[in-house]
Amino acid sequence: EKRPSKHFIEQAIEADLAAGKASGVFTRFPPEPNGYLHIGHAKSICLNFGLAKTYGGTCNLRFDDTNPSKEETEYVESIKEDVRWLGFEWDNLHFASDYFDHLYDWAEQLIQGGHAYVCDLTPEETREYRGTLTEPGKNSPHRDRSAEENLDLFRRMKAGEFEDGSRTLRAKIDMASPNFNMRDPVMYRILRAHHHRTGDKWCMYPMYDWAHGQSDSMENISFSICTLEFEHHRPLYDWFCKSLEIHHPRQIEFARLNINYTVMSKRKLLQLVKENHVNGWDDPRMPTISGLRRRGYTPESIRDFCADVGVAKFNSTIDFVRLENAIRNHLNQVAPRRMAVLNPVKLTITNWPKDKVDTNEAVNIQGNEDAGSRQIPFSGNLWIERDDFREEAPRKFFRLKKGGAVRLRAGYIVDCTDVVKDDDGNITEILCTYDPETRSGEDTSGRKVKGTIHWVSADHAAEVEVRNYDRLFTAENPDSNDDGKTFLDHMNPDSLNVLTAYVEPELSTANVGDRVQFERLGYYVVDSDSTDGKLVFNRIVPLRDSWGK
Ligand code: ATP
Ligand code: MG
Ligand code: MG
Repeated sequence: EKRPSKHFIEQAIEADLAAGKASGVFTRFPPEPNGYLHIGHAKSICLNFGLAKTYGGTCNLRFDDTNPSKEETEYVESIKEDVRWLGFEWDNLHFASDYFDHLYDWAEQLIQGGHAYVCDLTPEETREYRGTLTEPGKNSPHRDRSAEENLDLFRRMKAGEFEDGSRTLRAKIDMASPNFNMRDPVMYRILRAHHHRTGDKWCMYPMYDWAHGQSDSMENISFSICTLEFEHHRPLYDWFCKSLEIHHPRQIEFARLNINYTVMSKRKLLQLVKENHVNGWDDPRMPTISGLRRRGYTPESIRDFCADVGVAKFNSTIDFVRLENAIRNHLNQVAPRRMAVLNPVKLTITNWPKDKVDTNEAVNIQGNEDAGSRQIPFSGNLWIERDDFREEAPRKFFRLKKGGAVRLRAGYIVDCTDVVKDDDGNITEILCTYDPETRSGEDTSGRKVKGTIHWVSADHAAEVEVRNYDRLFTAENPDSNDDGKTFLDHMNPDSLNVLTAYVEPELSTANVGDRVQFERLGYYVVDSDSTDGKLVFNRIVPLRDSWGK
């Protein structure tokens, strides 16, 4: 909706549809279940599911689980949850491992057609024979085996007659190709490893390039969308489909999402988790979908962010601020406003009638009547932010100062008469008088003050834990490896600041997942660590501009 024109993938799709090269838009999102999804995956999800929706097609969720050692069922479940949470539902759920038999049959077909051979080179030898950027590779001494001999050896590979790593099945393409992927790539390796779905049925496993395109083909995918690293794999993708004479999806590459101040490879995210640099995959500082969810991000904000970033052909790095702005924009519209004091100092109203409690109505979202309002109790004992008071203040300080006046939001104008200090000279209490004529909404005093600050009634407030999160890394590019540093050397030591805070009583009934704006501070969400006795709030994002300052 925000985009002025169609992006290059939409243009390519429309051209193919118009030319009759594709009968519809059938896409898939193909994660490897070796970790939790991150914000980069969200971009791929939005793109694949989004295209299917735009063109009335379908989108499958396919687990690319061809690599047995790294995959776990926990990841499969988390990926499903994350895709659904983002607001998408797959048309079909598949596992590449369900295609192992079919892939095997196709491999025999290639062998019979003279397009694949069993090679006895060791992994090291295979690498040596592959050549370099400037030198072509050398043909394997086993390249010219007969189809019969290859078929026999391949069947024996499957039957478990050979040692791990002792033989491979390779595609017979071109050892002199300038593209390494075409220099007789390995299709199967012998590997005795337990698979999370096929168990110990197989002692050899297909390589990614062999399995991926064929899985696409079996699912009748029309547009196989992937990230730019796979551009040089496309000739191989095409070669397999052509050699097998099977349905041939079109691979289209787009630039992966990179964001500054974060890392985004599953391997590094796994390291953060395994080495306890964070508290699990869903730590609110993690760029994982589950981390962003726990942090308080909404699915809408992530979808908006992905749409805003767009789809490009060239890699670039997106500013973290754009992700933060996406959640700000959404919550600005929907999050009820509440008052909370995070760094409290006592404010006592000396002329407040003893035991009197006023209840003031305050709207939940200014300018949005549908969002309703709530009642806020006002008493003579308040908490305000320590930062909102200065004993001696510059002329332009429009909050509260000694001898000055300020409006308490949804309350009264108060005049500061004095402060109380402890033996060390720290202010422990601010003494004020209130002006009864100045009640918010019915002010008849004609007084004007420049500043408005938030507060809570100490007699009514709920005590809560506030977790102020900040960026996990201090370096713009934690991966840059400057001076031999790794991403772990760039972790922000202040990425979590835990506070005890006071919130208005309305919040004491808040539920896990509720999102609010703490006025003048930021957006917060109730965390799942909350108990009946104590709510825990995560800072989703601070307000960019704070009013009243
Ligand atoms: P990582 O390097 O983070 O482990 P991956 O590409 O190995 O990522 P997969 O599980 O294979 O992870 O990814 C599933 C799909 O998501 C693939 O189609 C992949 O291209 C896409 N994807 C992964 N990371 C990004 C990213 N940063 N931006 C856009 N798409 C991505
Ligand atoms: Mg991958
Ligand atoms: Mg990976």
